[in-house]
Amino acid sequence: MRYHIGVISGDGIGPEIVAEAKKALDRVGEAYGHVFEYEEILMGGCSIDATGVPLTDEAIARAKACDAVLMGSIGGDAATSPWYRLKPHLRPEAGLLKLRKSLNLFANLRPACLYEELKEACPLREDRIDGGFDMVILRELTGGLYFGERKTESVDGVLTAVDTLTYNENEIRRIARRAFDIAMKRRRNVVSVDKANVLDSSRLWRSVVEEVAKEYPEVTLSHMLVDNCAMQLVKDPKQFDVILTENMFGDILSDEASMVTGSIGMLSSASLNDTKFGLYEPSGGSAPDIAGKGIANPIATILSAAMLLRYSFDLDREANAVEAAVKQVLKEDYRTIDIMPQKEPQRSAVTQVGTKEMGDLIAERIRYYEK
Ligand code: NAD
Repeated sequence: MRYHIGVISGDGIGPEIVAEAKKALDRVGEAYGHVFEYEEILMGGCSIDATGVPLTDEAIARAKACDAVLMGSIGGDAATSPWYRLKPHLRPEAGLLKLRKSLNLFANLRPACLYEELKEACPLREDRIDGGFDMVILRELTGGLYFGERKTESVDGVLTAVDTLTYNENEIRRIARRAFDIAMKRRRNVVSVDKANVLDSSRLWRSVVEEVAKEYPEVTLSHMLVDNCAMQLVKDPKQFDVILTENMFGDILSDEASMVTGSIGMLSSASLNDTKFGLYEPSGGSAPDIAGKGIANPIATILSAAMLLRYSFDLDREANAVEAAVKQVLKEDYRTIDIMPQKEPQRSAVTQVGTKEMGDLIAERIRYYEK
């Protein structure tokens, strides 16, 4: 098959890590007989330098015409970069917000996976993480408290602020369907997180999720209150497969889940709409402190490319092959600087490699699997 992938390399380490993800995709293409065509799209600081704005309408149209978009990262050092002397709507990050809105990306997917080989970086007690864990958090991204009406006014001489948390059943239904679709590609278990003991929006959330669950009899659904979920993530992260939740709860829980995995350089993410289209990117930023040094960890971007294969192209076997290659390289004790063990003798037992070398090692280990 032939696939058309938009590529936003962006700023800082972006071009370095995206190059390695393309290398992995090309290797998948060779092994499985696909052709991936790439179209470079400017966004962020590099777009400001070239066009005066962080994202042009033409760039949006080109992104929309692609089957999926793979992104590196955008932005620079806020203290020193001239991009941050511009008005907020002209800064690099405004481009990303505009792109997410234009593409109607309402579902944010963040895996949190602890590899056995990297468990030293996990701050949790060893008995709680034995065997690692592997979950994804699906967060509703365009509704809820962050998009509701807000105001601050004086009520009887007392300053009073109001934020509103609104969800309608259609918004809940579409993200719930996404969660069940994702669970069907994994261990078929959804935990829907809400605060149904207090909030009306959560009670509606719960009833719509239950209604959607009837369409997916193979998937086990359970509900968990958000305060309990925050505890369970550090008490027993292995219990989770797919966590489905609304915008603000997801914002907080996905950061908590990512912290327990260790390195930012390992964390992939996807933002999806109601077609097969998605924007795939590492969770980290443009890391201006290490840009151009050839030491950035490309694994999060390579794993984002694996998600692109799985969720936009339904190439599950190919996505598994990329993830297996990443695991293999870690097992063979290759590490980029950010995931080097801190203590001896573990530190001396591993080999430190740069961005390009890590990309080569992973690409070389992508194999053809019958199924
Ligand atoms: P950052 O994630 O870029 O860096 C935080 C720390 O993590 C740094 O020490 C960095 O070296 C390290 N790091 C990040 N990615 C790494 C990788 N792949 N390998 C090894 N180390 C890595 O966060 P920041 O410094 O707060 O932000 C820098 C810029 O990135 C800012 O302009 C910010 O707005 C932008 N940003 C962009 C995105 C995005 O493109 N989606 C996301 C977050 C931040």
